[in-house]
Amino acid sequence: MGGHKNAVSKINIPIEVEKIINDLQNENFEAYIVGGCVRDNILGIEPKDWDIATNAKPEQIKKIFAKTVDTGLAHGTVTVILNKKHFEVTTYRIDGEYKDCRRPENVFFTDNLLQDLSRRDFTMNAIAFNEKYIDPFNGLQDIKNKLIRCVRDPAERFREDALRMMRAIRFANQLNFDLESKTFAALKKNVELIKFVSIERIRDELVKLFFSDARKINLLNESKILQFVNYDFYKYLCDNLNEISKKLLRVKKSCDTIFSVILYKMKPKDAYSLMKFFRFANKTCDSVRKILTYLNVKISNAYDVKKVICAIGYENFYKLLDVRNALEIFDNAKDILQNISGDCIFIKDLAVSGNDIKFLGFSGKEIGNVLKYLLDIVHKFPEKNSFDELISLAAMMK
Ligand code: ATP
Ligand code: MG
Repeated sequence: MGGHKNAVSKINIPIEVEKIINDLQNENFEAYIVGGCVRDNILGIEPKDWDIATNAKPEQIKKIFAKTVDTGLAHGTVTVILNKKHFEVTTYRIDGEYKDCRRPENVFFTDNLLQDLSRRDFTMNAIAFNEKYIDPFNGLQDIKNKLIRCVRDPAERFREDALRMMRAIRFANQLNFDLESKTFAALKKNVELIKFVSIERIRDELVKLFFSDARKINLLNESKILQFVNYDFYKYLCDNLNEISKKLLRVKKSCDTIFSVILYKMKPKDAYSLMKFFRFANKTCDSVRKILTYLNVKISNAYDVKKVICAIGYENFYKLLDVRNALEIFDNAKDILQNISGDCIFIKDLAVSGNDIKFLGFSGKEIGNVLKYLLDIVHKFPEKNSFDELISLAAMMK
């Protein structure tokens, strides 16, 4: 097996990873770091996680290490825990038959690293490293040229697993790479197949894309891929993508703030439906709706600030400020916030309770209405939040 010795740059491997590789080799198995961590290392990016590939079978891996978790035994993945850190050790494998453009249920183990590398999606993700690079598809060269190129025939690879098209576009954005011309041509021809992929997997790629600096965001439109995911979203992005991508650079990265910036021209209820369509957590969908509802509401004094916080909660309020800042909707809400600390904001902060109001002879819905009325007065005049004052105000309503 040919390979260049440290062809691009030296790889800084954590001691735990070295130990895992050594332990496997001491039992006469092969072991390499592989995939995203090799790619990121070459690019000078700190890898999020370290994946190790080996010809040892899962049961053999488990025998060698004291602490393991059966992460995906059927797929050959065992998580090895060392110094409380997790490392995925995966047996060399070949994927089984692909049905409906999705990754196969069945995988087959193999003893051959090259076969394992050849099932991987892009040349930059199909490099193994152990003292030297094993790079059968010239991934090093592609990384140097900032190119995303499918391993083997791109059309075939996209037809096998259509998510790879979203991954290609996501990586292009994250890494600021281009799609190699044959890969891009095959992608454009096959975009329709994305409809076979689950919304959650597409969403996860979109989230990664938008969390990055998104420097190749036009690929989303050019490829037309979203047309086959959600036509309304596709149309909306086509109309607004350039201005959105600039605004995205200014927002703090969380799903709800990012998607509020992306969807800022939509009606809150339509944005909410779209978030639901992408199966985001209820809390995230809800935050986007609330942020967009208050996006253009005037916030110019303490009363306004309290009203908005009361309506959407502190967490969403801070997110709203981030989003307004990204959209250049400026106000002095942050300064105002400092002057209202300790003021009553929510009904639960009132100096009277529902029971106190009931005692005055109110019942049912009236109680809530009285409390809301009192809260509004207290928002305007914080000094009125005392038991006696509020009881006498409430009594006047009787
Ligand atoms: P990230 O930094 O986003 O984790 P990654 O390249 O590590 O990027 P993973 O999804 O963690 O991506 O996958 C690890 C490796 O598994 C990839 O580098 C690639 O070699 C392979 N791989 C992942 N998804 C696919 C796929 N859909 N088809 C073929 N190979 C894949
Ligand atoms: Mg990874």
